[in-house]
Amino acid sequence: MEGVTPFMAQYLTAKASVPDAILFFRMGDFYELFFKDAEIAAAALGITLTKRGKHQGDDIPMAGVPVHALEGYLARLIRQGFKAAICEQMEDPAEAKKRGSKAVVRRDIVRVVTPGTLTEDSLLDARGANRLAAVAIRKGRAAVAVVELAGGVVDVVACALEDLGATLSSFRPSEVLVPDRLFSDEAAKDALDGSGGVVQALPQALSEPVGARVRVERLYGVAALDGFGAFEEAEVSALGLIAAYLETTQAGKIPALAPPRRSGDTGFLAIDPATRLSLEIDRTQRGEREGSLLASIDRTVTSGGARALAERIARPLRNTTAINHGLDAVEWLLERRDLRRDLRDGLRASSDVARAVSRLALGRGGPRDLAAIRGGLSIAGGLVSLFPTPDETLDGPPARIAACLDRLTLSPELGGLLSGLAEGLAAEPPHLARDGGFVNPGFRPELDEARQLRDDSRRVVADLEARAVAQSGVPFKVKHNAVLGYFLEATAKAAEPLLRPSEDSPFIHRQTLANQVRFTTVELSELDAKISQAGHRALAIEGETFETWRRTVQALAQPLQAVAEALAELDAHAALAEWAQEVGAVRPHVDDTTCFEVSAGRHPVVEAAVKAAGDPYTPNDCRLDGSGAGCARLSIVTGPNMAGKSTFLRQNALLVVLAQAGAFVPAKAMRLGAVDRLFSRVGAGDDLARGRSTFMMEMVETAAILTQATERSFVVLDEIGRGTATYDGLAIAWAVAEALHNRNQARTLFATHYHELAALETRLAHVCNLSMRAKEWNGDLVFLHEAAPGAADRSYGVQVAKLAGVPGAVVSRAREVLDRLEGETSAAANLNDLPLFAAAEPAVPPITPPPSSAVDDALQGIEPDELTPREALEALYRLKGLA
Ligand code: ADP
Repeated sequence: MEGVTPFMAQYLTAKASVPDAILFFRMGDFYELFFKDAEIAAAALGITLTKRGKHQGDDIPMAGVPVHALEGYLARLIRQGFKAAICEQMEDPAEAKKRGSKAVVRRDIVRVVTPGTLTEDSLLDARGANRLAAVAIRKGRAAVAVVELAGGVVDVVACALEDLGATLSSFRPSEVLVPDRLFSDEAAKDALDGSGGVVQALPQALSEPVGARVRVERLYGVAALDGFGAFEEAEVSALGLIAAYLETTQAGKIPALAPPRRSGDTGFLAIDPATRLSLEIDRTQRGEREGSLLASIDRTVTSGGARALAERIARPLRNTTAINHGLDAVEWLLERRDLRRDLRDGLRASSDVARAVSRLALGRGGPRDLAAIRGGLSIAGGLVSLFPTPDETLDGPPARIAACLDRLTLSPELGGLLSGLAEGLAAEPPHLARDGGFVNPGFRPELDEARQLRDDSRRVVADLEARAVAQSGVPFKVKHNAVLGYFLEATAKAAEPLLRPSEDSPFIHRQTLANQVRFTTVELSELDAKISQAGHRALAIEGETFETWRRTVQALAQPLQAVAEALAELDAHAALAEWAQEVGAVRPHVDDTTCFEVSAGRHPVVEAAVKAAGDPYTPNDCRLDGSGAGCARLSIVTGPNMAGKSTFLRQNALLVVLAQAGAFVPAKAMRLGAVDRLFSRVGAGDDLARGRSTFMMEMVETAAILTQATERSFVVLDEIGRGTATYDGLAIAWAVAEALHNRNQARTLFATHYHELAALETRLAHVCNLSMRAKEWNGDLVFLHEAAPGAADRSYGVQVAKLAGVPGAVVSRAREVLDRLEGETSAAANLNDLPLFAAAEPAVPPITPPPSSAVDDALQGIEPDELTPREALEALYRLKGLA
């Protein structure tokens, strides 16, 4: 730091502590950026790049944003994947001056802004949770810890390594922390890439369990973590990464967090990132919310409710008791239309309590956040009174709803906070506490006094204008600005007589501008001092009042978040009931069998789209039953392109998601043995960014399914093998179908355009054929979208080409070629001789011994333990000669 100014030294020190963040350095009314940061920000935000002074002989690039516009600029930087740090002035510049004219204002980094740690409303999606996740692997187990800062919620899930991707993506984190060794681990790469969040590598040491435990204990201010439960090592490591990151990014401010909720990986239906994407559960493949399952069923009326619903759909349950509790709540509200309407009307009036609480606890909130809390608390009582009490009636609310009502019954502390806010906080308070004007008159007598004094003096000032005019004959106007305070102003011409020096003139000259002259009087400057003192005092009292409320909120953060959660959960249940009523969805019967039976099921998203276009949607049955002999648990689905195969496949997978999320399903009836893992491989594009072709992607994902699916899983596969040569593709599809049937024994829908696969129905015990029906009518193809038993007889590819507008000449030429080809021996005929693929021993991996060779025979004769090294070498040469 030699040879640099004290100011530059301060800047460089601050910057060195956040090297990977863009540093916003507070200087008066601006945040300034210097050096590389200025250049990056100028390019990313379109702000002007200038220069200021020199550093080591070179110009220093500089850019700046006004203080009040910071949030907007931050939002844009974060969205572009940057991190930002905020360095504030920690004292009034006047204070610094007292230490000497060269003294530098004290500054500190108060916060590092990253995608996962945002809390500002303007930077957040109101209907989606913003989460920071951390991943750790220890002793062969993985763990994911997740914090939602804005809701104060912490989750931690330990899982098997292969479930890491599914677990991580179920939280949709916007930022993922990993120890750096894991960051470069090829196996973890898929899981991290699939999470959708920005990945941040942290030093490996931060994930060491001993240090991690200490940091987590510090975060919670507890002496031992054990009070929250027994955690696996990986869980502690992951939580430790979160704690370390919050310590640095929040610059020591401790957020109000609930104890970590621990849910084992068996608690949830595992859905890996590829499946999530393919089913478009909460985002479409293009990354938009619109068009997803979630968007099409979301009828919530609050943003907290929208987040609760999103959570429910993103992480459906596996435990049938828990699933049925959710279904009970939806059913109960579905049956009570009036109550539901009143409940939703009440909820509509509430604001985002969860986020307000967290902002206040982090010292970032304002009076409007207090108003949000008041709003939430004040409707709670009214909502509870809508419900019958359990002893009043036999059909009182089911467990999940009763638990919400419990949380909405305010404790005396919360009641006290509510009455304080109701009495003292203005009805529509301003955004910032420092502007004042949010405490009601009558709430603090000393505030009323200060305000009175200020207002009275202002009135005297107003009178003074008339008196000054009368006294001087000059048409004065009383004005005010930040530098001069109150002053009298007149045009230069009118004020001319007063500019001549005169002993007894009460008008003291202050300033001459181009056309105006400004004066003051002794009385006016005294009044000015009084007003500004009273004003400061009023602001100070308001600031104190705000701080008292803020501290109360911080201390009551947990019960307040519980109220927010209860409001959100009620909204989500009621919204699911509302949607069920609207689309005619029914309660699925969910149990622990391996049955899957849907009658007249519909695809919630496609149905809405088809109906919006004025067409009818064709409901379809589907039955896959793993339970008994003669039951098909694998269906081969054939049919022409565009016949509705992938819609049918996705539809059934989505019904599983809905049912296990505790939602009703669009069908006449559904019976479901709860699924442990859901897999979907339905038409995905190339992942060119990662240099993988469609075919390669398909094989990677297929491999994951074959290694992970169990007899409780549900698999939908579409056109496996399509990306390669016909026989290759057919061979792979055939082998995959056999393996799913024999080994995994998962309930499977297998769509294919290889009609040859239909032969599996007669060769394997639990396979049946389904086809999406289409009819030729007057030479045109008509799709019925109906799944019927039996295989499709042909693929109608040429007819589909015609429908798609391929020129007539090409279509008729294709027809000629097809006729020729169909005359030749079909592939299916060749397949008839294929030996069975270990169908007899389903549980054991099928190993068909290859015919033995001379090498094998020679190997049989070798006893390695009895050979000298020399003999071993000779044996090796002999074997090589035989090969
Ligand atoms: P495939 O996978 O066989 O090529 P898709 O499932 O993509 O066919 O369906 C093609 C189109 O047919 C869909 O976009 C939809 O508009 C329509 N469709 C599919 N299933 C149905 C149905 N059950 N009822 C009405 N229209 C349907």
